[in-house]
Amino acid sequence: MDCTRRRFIKILGICGAAALIDDDPLLADPLSPSLHPNSEFGLLNDGTRCIGCHSCENACREYNNLPAFETRPDGEILYPTELNDRVFTRIESKTIPSVDSSTGETVTYRRHQCNHCLHPSCVSACPVGALVKSPEGPVYYRAERCIGCRYCMNACPFTIPKYEWNSNKPFIRKCTMCSEKVLQGEPTSCASVCPTGAITFGTRNELLEEARQRIAQDPDRYHNHIYGEFEVGGTNVLYLSSSAVPCADFGFPMNVGNESYPSLTWAALSRVPGIALYVVVWVTFVYFITQHRIPEELKNRESEKTDSDLKE
Ligand code: SF4
Ligand code: SF4
Ligand code: SF4
Repeated sequence: MDCTRRRFIKILGICGAAALIDDDPLLADPLSPSLHPNSEFGLLNDGTRCIGCHSCENACREYNNLPAFETRPDGEILYPTELNDRVFTRIESKTIPSVDSSTGETVTYRRHQCNHCLHPSCVSACPVGALVKSPEGPVYYRAERCIGCRYCMNACPFTIPKYEWNSNKPFIRKCTMCSEKVLQGEPTSCASVCPTGAITFGTRNELLEEARQRIAQDPDRYHNHIYGEFEVGGTNVLYLSSSAVPCADFGFPMNVGNESYPSLTWAALSRVPGIALYVVVWVTFVYFITQHRIPEELKNRESEKTDSDLKE
């Protein structure tokens, strides 16, 4: 065995060992950052206070340098009807018969965005640590690490991460809870502009207390459920909805369970990055060997052919 090949096998061994003792903090157990979940920052979205003014959508678009919304020829803005790689939050409305029959109908609203799970399955599914769960609460994205495998999209129980399908250099896009601001202790852009207090920024503990108080003070107004308190092990974005249109009617997935998804899969997934690295190195090694063997075999065959030609 020549020196280069011996060195290669040594590297292979080191990578194999690294696979078994991988301690990259960004690939660490995603359950660990949430040891103090109630002190993480989050948002309380109160659908009963929302008036559908779309200020939050515009503030999000501006903060994230996202393109302007389409407009009709008469200038009316066409607000988005779904989250996508250029829309990180949107307001959904529902028209219901009014309790007061004299006013006919009432419109109620719900805001959509990433829920910033306490134990995010997008983070645990990402094999390269491109999605990060910060101890402060936000689940944010490191584009430079992303390999475009889109495992996060499949893993999220709320189908939040979106892919830039129309870009030459596509990335994953989603609400980051304005992580640059929140990591400095500042409120998110959407919370800052909401004129009615429908979006409250604070620690999860404060938000849960506030939500319980609102339900207790006005039980007729609110559906008695804080969405995100327990779903998928808890989320940092919490929702209150009106008693007339409970969470389920607004399309909140109600079958996600209360157990954190990574706790079910992490034992197996935690070894994936290391094993994947080992497989890549092993395949490269096999390629290296075969590419050296083939020319030698060809050379031998060529020399045999030349010998027989000379004999003739
Ligand atoms: S809602 Fe989805 S994208 Fe957002 S943190 Fe949870 S798993 Fe990740
Ligand atoms: S938290 Fe920031 S990124 Fe998320 S919806 Fe609000 S403004 Fe947009
Ligand atoms: S800014 Fe507040 S009131 Fe206006 S649409 Fe957003 S959540 Fe509703």
